Amino acid sequence: AREFHLIARPQGEPAVTDFALVTRTLPDPGPGELLVRNLVLSVDPYMRGKMSGVRTYTDPYELNAPMEGGAVGVVEASTDPAVPTGTLVVHNAGWRSHALLPASRVRPLPADSPVDPSVYLGALGMPGLTAYVGLRHKAGIREGDTVFVSGAAGAVGSMVGQLAALYGARRVIGSAGSPEKVAYLRDELGFDAAFDYRAAPVREQLADAAPDGIDVYFDNVGGDHLEAAIACANDFARFAICGAISGYNATSAPRAPRNLFQIVTKRLTLRGFIVSDEPHLAEEFQREVAPAVADGRIKVRETVVEGLERTPEAFISMLRGGNIGKMVVRVAE
Ligand code: NDP
Repeated sequence: AREFHLIARPQGEPAVTDFALVTRTLPDPGPGELLVRNLVLSVDPYMRGKMSGVRTYTDPYELNAPMEGGAVGVVEASTDPAVPTGTLVVHNAGWRSHALLPASRVRPLPADSPVDPSVYLGALGMPGLTAYVGLRHKAGIREGDTVFVSGAAGAVGSMVGQLAALYGARRVIGSAGSPEKVAYLRDELGFDAAFDYRAAPVREQLADAAPDGIDVYFDNVGGDHLEAAIACANDFARFAICGAISGYNATSAPRAPRNLFQIVTKRLTLRGFIVSDEPHLAEEFQREVAPAVADGRIKVRETVVEGLERTPEAFISMLRGGNIGKMVVRVAE
């Protein structure tokens, strides 16, 4: 098996030399264990946090040890009759070609699923659940809301915008980092408005896109985006604070929004959340969202990098905005 180890903690932007691909021989599965051959790996922004040596809500990656992350694989050998050979499973032993795992650590994909297995790393996986939890349960989306989402062309953001429309938003606004992404949001995903945050100040562009203010903000970016959303918020607006990717590679503390007192004057609600706290919502998420993905009401796009050895490259590219939709690495057919 081949597996990636983190061999140096990145300072600022990660480099491919922070990672090493290591070969080792895996033993046969013991009682209750499976050998899984990975097909698709996920690279996600939270992994950047785990590369720093600091514990936040999750433990950091250890140096010189196999890295973890979402993956879909096929069971190649099994000693658990409940998960026989040939089963497609999603699990957390990514960043590697093969994984030896207790059967309790994998989740079989629905047998009759109409979508590609990789969708369980994106729209119907952790990022999709994040979008659902944040929009539905943290921001409490209601019919008629004007919704703004940053990072809108990414895995989470593209789901937020499409779910907002399904839940009856009056207006859905997204921001992203290139003209191509803006066109994708407007023309393919049906956003009512979208803008390129690199082209002009976020605050001005958001004010133009939301002449009647915003009722919900789903924050993937932090920094200027959060300040702009506070500035454009209507009274009693609700913010789902999901991430702050504009600061993940920062080597000094990012500038805070300068208008936090408007949280008081506008009576805003800001709710931070972590999706792994909400496993109890996974079932209703699948029930509500999987049919919309299957019948095309929700569109799914992926950026696919080919080859296990390119996983670090895919991760770094994702942090730079090289993906439209979910960034995944295909390691085997
Ligand atoms: P994406 O698919 O959105 O990929 C990351 C994107 O971030 C890039 O494509 C890039 O797009 C954008 N980006 C990078 N740097 C900046 C910057 N300086 N300013 C603005 N945008 C930037 O990733 P995910 O959908 O997986 O994650 C989106 C967010 O959700 C992240 O903040 C992540 O940490 C968070 N998250 C939180 C979870 C939780 O439980 N709270 C769970 C899962 C994700 P662009 O070209 O537009 O710049």
